[in-house]
Amino acid sequence: MNFISVQEAKFLILNQVDHPKPVAVHLDQATGKILAEDILSPLDLPPFPQSSMDGYAFRADSYDPGKGLLITEVIPAGQGREILIGKGEAVRIFTGAAVPQGADTVIMQEKTEVRDGRLYLKEEVPPPGTHVRPAGSEIRKGEQALPTGHLLNPASIGLLASMGLTSVAVHTPPSVHILVTGDELTSPGEPLPYGRVFDSNSFTLRAAFQLAGIEDIRISQVPDREDLLSEAISSALEKQDLVVLTGGVSVGDFDFVAATAMRCGVEKVFHKIKQKPGKPIFFGIKGNKLVFGLPGNPASALTCFYEYLEPAVQKLLGKSSAVRKVNAPIQSSYKKAPGLTHFLKAWYDGSRVFPLDAQESFRLRSFARANALIVIDEKDDGVQAGEQVEVHILPV
Ligand code: AMP
Ligand code: MG
Repeated sequence: MNFISVQEAKFLILNQVDHPKPVAVHLDQATGKILAEDILSPLDLPPFPQSSMDGYAFRADSYDPGKGLLITEVIPAGQGREILIGKGEAVRIFTGAAVPQGADTVIMQEKTEVRDGRLYLKEEVPPPGTHVRPAGSEIRKGEQALPTGHLLNPASIGLLASMGLTSVAVHTPPSVHILVTGDELTSPGEPLPYGRVFDSNSFTLRAAFQLAGIEDIRISQVPDREDLLSEAISSALEKQDLVVLTGGVSVGDFDFVAATAMRCGVEKVFHKIKQKPGKPIFFGIKGNKLVFGLPGNPASALTCFYEYLEPAVQKLLGKSSAVRKVNAPIQSSYKKAPGLTHFLKAWYDGSRVFPLDAQESFRLRSFARANALIVIDEKDDGVQAGEQVEVHILPV
């Protein structure tokens, strides 16, 4: 028996996953992607001292309430001429316009009045710097704007554009091929002959991959025939980065997945983990392609996704797993024999965790209501109600 532990399996998988190669994408394609480079600002932002108000710009210490200020110019936003003003002068200025050299202060138009071409303030002279955004006050030239690993949300995309950038290096999400195997599978939407079941795994896994940020997903249904399986695996390995099979990884007469994958040149990293559900899981590599053979039982396949595929996918994206780990008191006792790590579908309410009923690996009904998995270690023979257990909170 060459079963390995859950910890060992996780280590072996992440050990095989390389950070992806960065690619340059245009900003309009970059939303939700992960930055693969530090972004240093190529310029001061704002590039010039900028007015943040509609009003008048002048030099604060040159205002004489008796004489007012001589209005010399009108500067709308975008005005390209460099202007110099002297003591006792003011310019009409608008939000976003360059504050002229010689001026240090902007006063709101509502706080002024103009008489005979001269500007008078209706209140005290504001302190120098009022309503002026100094050049480089958002970011200085050469300063780090965003670090490697940053998720590009809409504000990030705007920040990049505001620095004049048009493209950035990001990690590209891997492409995935999901191969569901089993002669009993019928696609939803088709009539269901006696003895057959609808394929749900391809739907479950596609949804889980989509939530993890993967868009390039192909799906194929393959009968339990070695030749067809071999063809399907070989072709998927040529085109996709990640090949995920479900069904046929156990020891039944029609379980060809592990042997066939190896015949297609996949190097086995492990086959079987000391866990329930999902014991027969297979993991192998071919070059930098990853191959996962998940058990066909729907709850096993999804548990394996959260525990093994999700962290691998996130690493491929340059991120860490979105499955959050906490400890919480379990609200009912659970008995098991030592030997296998058990994953229990559960509801976590923010402080306590409740194991759900219907834990069997063919059932998705309780999984559909679960927001967490409880982990009971292989060496334990169970837990008592109230004991602290490890909880993996599922990403939504
Ligand atoms: P296997 O791992 O091939 O022995 O299949 C285990 C169980 O999972 C069987 O009851 C299969 O019918 C079921 N199963 C396998 N693949 C799927 C699938 N794609 N969707 C739903 N159930 C499946
Ligand atoms: Mg099968």
